[in-house]
Amino acid sequence: MKTSVMPQMFPLLLALLVCLPALAPSRAQAQAGALEGGGFFVTQIGSLKVTALSDAIGQMGFDLLRDIGPSEVAQAASQAGLPDGASSFPSFVNAFAVELPAGLVLVDTGNGPQANLAASLKAAGIDPSEVKAVLLTHFHGDHIGGLLDAQGQAAFPEATVYADSEEDRYWLGGPKPLSAQAMEAIAPYRAAGRYRLFSPGDEVLPGVEAVELYGHTPGHVGFMFSGGGQDLLAWGDIVHVRLVQFAHPGATLTYDVDGPRAAATRKRIFGQAAGKGFFVAGAHLPFPGLGQVAGDGEAFEYRPVGE
Ligand SMILES: [Zn+2]
Repeated sequence: MKTSVMPQMFPLLLALLVCLPALAPSRAQAQAGALEGGGFFVTQIGSLKVTALSDAIGQMGFDLLRDIGPSEVAQAASQAGLPDGASSFPSFVNAFAVELPAGLVLVDTGNGPQANLAASLKAAGIDPSEVKAVLLTHFHGDHIGGLLDAQGQAAFPEATVYADSEEDRYWLGGPKPLSAQAMEAIAPYRAAGRYRLFSPGDEVLPGVEAVELYGHTPGHVGFMFSGGGQDLLAWGDIVHVRLVQFAHPGATLTYDVDGPRAAATRKRIFGQAAGKGFFVAGAHLPFPGLGQVAGDGEAFEYRPVGE
């Protein structure tokens, strides 16, 4: 089945770059330039209306990759059209809003007030008070930072925050929390009785199942949204570097708490996505971060929506 893709609003710069491809040294760079300051993208996947929201665009140094040789990294960079001598890949931070019968759900919240999620929500016509649930894939700062606004208050005053119980235990469970940022970000929600823990396999909300994707962090999870025959897995940080990790799923990142497990999880979920054909929403895939996976065995390909 086909998804219809409707870009609702892109900054003028993207339109110019699309019209004048000779000015765009690479597609990734064109997107990066276009999305400074935020952006959003709306599409329909089965019965689901999904809004991709840009939080940040940046660069990720080659030196952050692990379990892959420098020559393979250089080859991936050159195949992607990056200039000779490049030392970083384009990087992206996305969040996703999904409309459900129960209300509007947000998957992850970006870096926080210094980044662009709030502007992207506003551009998409979404008021933060409309968000009824925030589903966290894990507790790294680029996913939980936006739980608080610039005043340190709950950025989503009507939302209940959902997190994996293992993730909660790892970062917050000790006598001194491993992540003070996560403790602070969750505090106002917890104080209001709007913080809930789940386990993989649980139906977090009607039509949304938590999927175990442990490895990147001990409680890293995805959320499978059933869209009436066309499903969508918001998979968090299964991929940090599109240009490397589909072809080399064994390549890990220095940020992975358990690299071998992260790589094994990536291969498993790539195989499922390719075999079953569900759509994926990636926090660090090139904006809008929505697409499908093809391939089998050891090497895979990413097929972004709209290409
Ligand atoms: Zn991340």
